[in-house]
Amino acid sequence: MSKSELVDELVRGGYLKTPAIIEAFKTVDRAAFVPVEFKSQAYENHPLPIGFEQTISQPLTVAFMLELLQPQPGSKILDVGSGSGWQSALLAQLVGESGKVVAIERIPELKIFAEGNLNAFPELAGRVSFVLGDGSQGYEPEAPYNRIIAAAAGDTIPEAWKNQLKTGGTIVAPVSQSIVVVQKLTPEKFEVREYFGFSFVPLVKEQAG
Ligand code: SAM
Repeated sequence: MSKSELVDELVRGGYLKTPAIIEAFKTVDRAAFVPVEFKSQAYENHPLPIGFEQTISQPLTVAFMLELLQPQPGSKILDVGSGSGWQSALLAQLVGESGKVVAIERIPELKIFAEGNLNAFPELAGRVSFVLGDGSQGYEPEAPYNRIIAAAAGDTIPEAWKNQLKTGGTIVAPVSQSIVVVQKLTPEKFEVREYFGFSFVPLVKEQAG
């Protein structure tokens, strides 16, 4: 499949809808985020290995989650589990010059891999701060965020993410085998929706002590 065939398939399937997100999928080339041995499969609609038992996410899943997240120009977004950096780059395009993406990853080699991949997109690279750490606790030094998105599944939405989200903001994250959308209506009131039937790598929490 070519890049435009992949985008067309995601549009026809109803996964990609918003013009800015469709444009981001066309601009931020997934092939630039895939290890060299998998380049020929970069536009196939499935996850691919990036080493360390991790994957670059399936395009359909990224499209579905970004449509739920609805990043806006100027948004500050926490991207938990940045892996290859592909989704971080898509977010960087969507938040525009006045926005910021904080991309947190727990595997040092993948943080370096993502940073290197982003260098192919100098304009976008300047909008992303890569952080090494446990994103299950969010990332307090850069909080609050307009949006939080995660690529690895926990068994619940962490309280830290809810606390680090601005009122009016949105979290889109996998919980077990579902995608959950949390909207922060007031500092104490949250609205939650769940979409069943997805598959994710686990959100690994660092052991305390
Ligand atoms: N969006 C990424 C991409 O397309 O390349 C997804 C990468 S993969 C599906 C999920 C990533 O989450 C992995 O790189 C994994 O190391 C990372 N991860 C898992 N638990 C984490 C945690 N607690 N904090 C930060 N990253 C974590």
